[in-house]
Amino acid sequence: MAKIKYYYDTETCQYQEVKTSLADTVSLVLVFLVVSFVMALGLAVGYNALFPSDEYVELAKEKQLLEKNYTKFDGELSYLNKVLAAIQERDDYLYRGYFDSEPLPKTIREGGTGGTDKYRNLPKHEIISLTAQKIDAVKRRIYIQAKSLDEIVKLAQSHSERAASIPGIVPVPEATKRFVSGFGMRMHPIYRIFKFHSGCDFSAPIGTPVYATGDGVIAAAQPHAGYGNQVTIDHGFGFVSTYSHLSKFDCKEGQKVKRGQLIGRVGSTGVSVSPHLHYEIHRNGTQINPIQYFYDDLNPNEYEELLDVASRNRPSMGN
Ligand SMILES: [Zn+2]
Repeated sequence: MAKIKYYYDTETCQYQEVKTSLADTVSLVLVFLVVSFVMALGLAVGYNALFPSDEYVELAKEKQLLEKNYTKFDGELSYLNKVLAAIQERDDYLYRGYFDSEPLPKTIREGGTGGTDKYRNLPKHEIISLTAQKIDAVKRRIYIQAKSLDEIVKLAQSHSERAASIPGIVPVPEATKRFVSGFGMRMHPIYRIFKFHSGCDFSAPIGTPVYATGDGVIAAAQPHAGYGNQVTIDHGFGFVSTYSHLSKFDCKEGQKVKRGQLIGRVGSTGVSVSPHLHYEIHRNGTQINPIQYFYDDLNPNEYEELLDVASRNRPSMGN
């Protein structure tokens, strides 16, 4: 049974019953409930702190492990990025530099993402998304690097193909002692006038072997007006060489040839005073001095000797 409370009324000098309103009762109940809840929560937290449940301990351990692993992954990702950066630098400035190729633009390198730096200040709770983004960025960089290396391999192949294709050797054996007349204005032995001599003449007995001076394809092997029997080799990369006044062909049109391969024999066909080879090099359609290209099989002394003979402006031996 509820207790009845009284208060002393000084006006009436009597005890009056204390009436409790519904609002006061509700307020009291609410205060009681809130205080009870706070106390229960406090007790639960305190209890958990002092006597954590197995599940709580497991979760805490898992969280600790995750954080530890994240730090480890993050360190490994940073290391991968450093390794990639070193490879990229070598790629851009060493490998590409060697083949005269420009470094890859930064925008291509970073795959249009602006790199991984923009994620640096994200809060820790985005660990998984952050790590996924970093891994994606590394994957993209690796893919672009692999493509770049493929391109460098192609550049290297093309470079070595070019090196083998350029007409870089003398076309006859013992060329230095056979060299007679060089490139430029020379007295023509038959027309008896100064005429532009568009190649080099090597005097040699009929039948002396004539070699392809670089890799290429036989573009023509046939008589060619005043040049007699002539072989033309297309070396690619803008280079063409011709071998004139031959007595015999040792190749056919369309045949692929390697540097140093026998393609014909010295003769005296066409406009020629005696057996010799007239040798020309054309680059991008312009006749150039072949002497600049005898670098592959002459030693410095032989080359000097050849330059000396060429400077004497001896008459040519024909066309
Ligand atoms: Zn000539």
